[in-house]
Amino acid sequence: MAKPASRVAKIPPYLFARIDKKKEEARKKGLDLIDFSIGDPDIPTPEFIVKRMQEAVADPKNHRYPSYEGMFAYRKAVADWYGQRFSVEVDPKDEVVALIGSKEGIAHFPFAYLDEGDIALIPSPGYPVYKVMTLLAGGVPYIMPLLEENGFLPRFDTIPEEVLKKAKFMFINYPNNPTGAHANDAFYEEAVALAKKYDFVLCHDAAYSEVTYDGFRARSILEFDKEKRYSIEFHSLSKTYCMTGWRIGFAAGNREAVQNLGKLKTNIDSGAFDAVQWAAIEALTSNQESVAAMRTVFQKRRDIMVDGLASIGIQVPRPLATFYIWAHVPKGYTSAAFAEKLIEEKGIVVTPGSGFGDEGEGYFRISITTGEDRIREAVERMRGMEL
Ligand SMILES: *Cc1c(COP(=O)(O)O)cnc(C)c1O
Repeated sequence: MAKPASRVAKIPPYLFARIDKKKEEARKKGLDLIDFSIGDPDIPTPEFIVKRMQEAVADPKNHRYPSYEGMFAYRKAVADWYGQRFSVEVDPKDEVVALIGSKEGIAHFPFAYLDEGDIALIPSPGYPVYKVMTLLAGGVPYIMPLLEENGFLPRFDTIPEEVLKKAKFMFINYPNNPTGAHANDAFYEEAVALAKKYDFVLCHDAAYSEVTYDGFRARSILEFDKEKRYSIEFHSLSKTYCMTGWRIGFAAGNREAVQNLGKLKTNIDSGAFDAVQWAAIEALTSNQESVAAMRTVFQKRRDIMVDGLASIGIQVPRPLATFYIWAHVPKGYTSAAFAEKLIEEKGIVVTPGSGFGDEGEGYFRISITTGEDRIREAVERMRGMEL
């Protein structure tokens, strides 16, 4: 058997493999597991979107190869959504590209911008794809630590000048997975100013822009870079419309960045299924009542979880966005050791923070993609635990 490419060896070991094994063992022992480790809404896709898909899938016009950049009607729906949601103008002709889920675009972007040895600015803890795909593309990740004392925002003034000069792009992600943090206007302004000064592409992963609570409205990076000179934004229908399995998202912003990503895609995939795009158009152009309903469900769960944890002496911030709660592990444990203990002793599954990068050590992530009763039950199981 031939040896795989050395780049495959660069992929860090799957950090959750041990957790998966512990889960399996616990299940075999007959433990009733409550799983807070999944970043995937448990709410079904809204009925009207499913209906539109059923119609579209029956239409032979949608059975042929899609266009790699997405149907014009889809890109137009995206542009209209941007206009309504953020008062930002994007040209559906060449400033929007359809993605097979935003992960696809995020994963391919480094290949469009990095030559061997080029630097990419990557947050940690963070969505693992930014760093892994930078490495696979031959780039050098410069890690920007997201520290609690800075509200989980990177401190740009700590990045050395020579790193900034060599950087091809920076990834930022707010509202943030895994910390649940959000960014303020000053942060976005600073990020755009930095991209301008050092001439790198500013990539904003906005997967959670619509998963917000207490009336909080997340911003688009394009609101701060109105001429779209430096920025590209990655969006997903996965979390907004509970469509993770459908694989549909988009990137919008700087024309060159969008086109370079698209050029790469022409040689990799053949676009998203047209029927899925029709369903996505239905979602984007709807009255957004389903989004409000989704927010109501998660906001209530957030409160039950945060208040429940407080009642057993675990203080965690109440996030204004995302379905994640980012909590400290008790003293004396690593993230992984605490996560294993929770599975073995309580049948509760959380994600160890170290799975999101070294800077996530000392934390664990709770994903509230499980019903209210299960959240209450988990809190009861944890009550009396020595923490
Ligand atoms: C879920 C998620 C995505 C990707 O979602 P897709 O289903 O690929 O559209 C991207 N970034 C972050 C931070 C996420 O949590």
